[in-house]
Amino acid sequence: MKYFDHAASTPPHPEVIRTIAEVMQAHYGNPSSLHASGESGFKLLHRAREVCAQALGVEPSEIVFTSGATESNNMAIKGAALQYRTRGKHLITSMVEHPSVYESFRQLEGLGFEVTFVPVQTDGTVDIEAVMQAVRKDTVLVSIMHVNNETGSIQPVAEIGRELKQKHPRVLFHVDGVQGFGKVPLQIKDSGIDLYSLSAHKIRGPKGAGLLYVRKGVQLFPLLSGGGQEGGVRSGTENVPALVGMAKALRLAKEKEGENIRGWRNVRQRLVEGMASLPELVLNSPADGAPHILHFSYPGMKPEVVLHCLEEDGLEVSTKSACSSKTSEPSRVLLAMGKSMEVAQSGIRISLGDEHTAEDADLLIEALTKAVKRLSGLKGGLK
Ligand code: PMP
Repeated sequence: MKYFDHAASTPPHPEVIRTIAEVMQAHYGNPSSLHASGESGFKLLHRAREVCAQALGVEPSEIVFTSGATESNNMAIKGAALQYRTRGKHLITSMVEHPSVYESFRQLEGLGFEVTFVPVQTDGTVDIEAVMQAVRKDTVLVSIMHVNNETGSIQPVAEIGRELKQKHPRVLFHVDGVQGFGKVPLQIKDSGIDLYSLSAHKIRGPKGAGLLYVRKGVQLFPLLSGGGQEGGVRSGTENVPALVGMAKALRLAKEKEGENIRGWRNVRQRLVEGMASLPELVLNSPADGAPHILHFSYPGMKPEVVLHCLEEDGLEVSTKSACSSKTSEPSRVLLAMGKSMEVAQSGIRISLGDEHTAEDADLLIEALTKAVKRLSGLKGGLK
């Protein structure tokens, strides 16, 4: 089976798997315990924090370990909104965020906060000026993702962060960096970013491990109360093996960033060229989108049917994104980009990993051409 769904999850790197197994076997002590077994877990966690901080170009004390980006996003958004609620109750985000961001804001609306959902342009990006114009006296937080998980559209987060800090230094800026890390270079420290979320399993690390960068001086209302781990902002015994595995994955992703990006660009370009021979196919990813994601629609064809046809040929792709692929709703992201309902209901996402080659792209185009021919021959029943 050829796997083309790396934006949903990636195969863990063999070195990551080895590391996790070793830590599970030899370092099972609770890192908060005072004996030697606890101490060895604590040291590993300390080292993992240093490695993660280095990969992000930030200080180790600015890293909070979490169970993944869903938690990091919830922690950043609700934690900041609740912590600074006396400053103001206005929050800003975009219309194309991941559900873990979007739904956090919807929940806060229910608690009396006011949220501006900034629209996007036809390429899926927000207009920097539209974000700036949405800022009010009582705005406490702006949250914009780096790379969109469905289309790969790249948001101008560095420009937004810098302008925001220049004009409104007290407004906090959160970036969901899940689909951008290791794929689209970003200097966190130079970009006015106060909070930045990551998930390990998108970069060949384990599932259930992530982090939130919290700039020194920023306080968050803790969503999880308990033993006071992670500087009191995230209680709960740390998942030492997974976090050590995440640190390894982050380091490897950073080391291979340039090489990976070049490889993805080539494969993606080959796919785009191949798709040109399928006239009814609508490409939803912008030409200057992230190198590892290509999203398209085949209006009138049920994406699940296309997906299963490709699967019969040994190729795994995705309809929409994994987090919303089990709902029959049209894509909120594509509708926000001004796509028709038909296009928004028939999206398919290909996302690349570092193992893919130009031959894989050719295989995919061949299988897609075959699937489309077969399905076009079946009158009705497909819509
Ligand atoms: N943000 C984005 C942009 C994502 O793609 C994902 C994963 N689909 C998440 C957040 C949530 O990550 P996780 O499911 O690992 O918590």
